[in-house]
Amino acid sequence: MHAKCIWYIRRLVNLDKDRSSTLKFLLARFKGHLGMTFFGGTLLLFSAFFTLVPPILIKETIDQIGNADNTYLFIIFLLIIGSTVIKGALYYGQRIILERVGQTIIHNLRTETIQHINSLSFAYFDDKQVGDLIARVTSDTDLLANFYGFTMVNIINNILILLGILVVLLVWNPVLALAFIALLPFIVHAMYKYSVTVKPLTEKIRKSFGQLTVSVQQTFNGIETVKLLGTEGFEAQKFDKSSNTLLDRNISASKVTSFWMPYVHFLVALGTALTLFWGGYLSIQGSITLGILMGFITYMDLLARPIRQTGMQIGSALNSIAAGSRVHEVLMQEQEDLESGEWFDEFQGQIEIENISFAYQGSSKEAIKNLSLTIPAGKKVALVGPSGSGKSTLVNLILGFYKPQKGTIKIDGVNLDEINLRKLRTATGHLSQDPFIFEGTILENITFGNPEASLGDVNEALEQAILSDFIQSLPKGVNTHIGEKGVRLSGGQKQRLAIARVLITNPQILILDEPTSNLDKKTEDELQKSLSNVMKGRTVITIAHRLWTIQNSDIIAFMNEGMIEDFGNHDYLYDNLDLYKEFVDSQVFTIRGESY
Ligand code: ADP
Ligand code: MG
Repeated sequence: MHAKCIWYIRRLVNLDKDRSSTLKFLLARFKGHLGMTFFGGTLLLFSAFFTLVPPILIKETIDQIGNADNTYLFIIFLLIIGSTVIKGALYYGQRIILERVGQTIIHNLRTETIQHINSLSFAYFDDKQVGDLIARVTSDTDLLANFYGFTMVNIINNILILLGILVVLLVWNPVLALAFIALLPFIVHAMYKYSVTVKPLTEKIRKSFGQLTVSVQQTFNGIETVKLLGTEGFEAQKFDKSSNTLLDRNISASKVTSFWMPYVHFLVALGTALTLFWGGYLSIQGSITLGILMGFITYMDLLARPIRQTGMQIGSALNSIAAGSRVHEVLMQEQEDLESGEWFDEFQGQIEIENISFAYQGSSKEAIKNLSLTIPAGKKVALVGPSGSGKSTLVNLILGFYKPQKGTIKIDGVNLDEINLRKLRTATGHLSQDPFIFEGTILENITFGNPEASLGDVNEALEQAILSDFIQSLPKGVNTHIGEKGVRLSGGQKQRLAIARVLITNPQILILDEPTSNLDKKTEDELQKSLSNVMKGRTVITIAHRLWTIQNSDIIAFMNEGMIEDFGNHDYLYDNLDLYKEFVDSQVFTIRGESY
């Protein structure tokens, strides 16, 4: 019986296992707000109670009409006004308190989610779309307002009113109350039907809306390509298609929702008609008073609003549980452990890789196979090899962004598992092909990794990155705004800014991921001096395409299909490894091609 009951309640609100765990998670967030929630809930209960008072007063007045005097009528007058005012005040207090609790919970959840996402490992982001993650932090947490806020409070309020009405009617006249009770299954069934029909529709609408957003985002991101290829018409057509799907879905949803109100009104009219018919008969017979009949009819009228709202709101509340499960899913992901592990008094930057193998999650192919390599502190290693050979993967493994399935990586003789990853990453500088420039001033961009840097440090970094002259030529100097809304920098200037950004953190290990391969020969030549400056005295791993960086390295490792084919200095490899010879020859050719 008990199990059956739970099963039925689950079905009624469409609660599967997943959703029950989300529900538990959402309810647990009330922790720390229990006092306030209880206080608000009590006010809500009393406010629902006072909603029930006026029909009772109406009934009393009509029944006393024969022997009532002016004083009696005046007292009723005061009671009706008074109870309504008290109900209003309670409602107001309850709203303010519960809304505050709800919004605080949502605020905490939102900040926790963004913090959590920030500290998830790289692997989590591999198969995620940025838009989807943004939605989880913004619109999904926002939808939770339906769970923690007004909607849920209103559902409870309305259910309390329904139950209250039921009790009063049963006390007045159990037989006539049957007219109302007979209606209840229809009401509950209608609410259930409505919420389960509308929910999938609103979910579909949300999905279509998401697709529409992605389509717009892609068009704007790729606007140059779109214009260059002249595919504006095609893009517009794609948008038109997404928008049309949304239109269709909105129309089907409105068909269902529009049916709802007339149906509820029909139910209420049916209730009123039944009450009049049956109650009128009882009243003529003399088994109920006129006041009771009036009271019943007033309550029937009072029912319309709660029924109508509750059906719709159960749908929204269920939707917000779905949104909650998306937030829950993110928060359940295990965070990267950045804080535990040891660090060195004097960090040297020696890297020993022993026999590691690694495959990305869900990939059957190993991106790194049985690879060993030792990089002594302060030496420069160039990783060379065709695209897809595993160079970037190797670097990500060294920084602990992924864990190899086999083998060990040691930094200064200590296993990577036992090292404080945050310290390791702070001690590592990274220059990529396309450095990311934040919206803000030059100063903010340079001190991003080390906000405590002094102006002297900044100037020295600018000097070494060979940016000083350029910055002095700007009217506002280091306070010049750059990025999308400010001064646009050339590729070479961006790279130099990135170099200054790295210099200011004074890293012991430096990773250069093809930092000059996007630049033309002339800019590259200009950059070489600042690059030489930044490389001095550090352990450097360069993912290299250009001969210049390669020839300046102490060790060159030639990678192919996740393995190191051979390593040594330039002359050795050129004479001994055909793949390397081919690679260098093709490089010389292109460099000549650009220079002459
Ligand atoms: P390289 O930097 O030498 O061009 P990568 O290290 O980027 O090569 O890639 C090595 C192999 O791993 C390639 O086959 C590539 O397709 C695969 N790979 C790279 N990144 C991922 C990822 N995030 N998820 C799955 N496979 C990946
Ligand atoms: Mg790469």
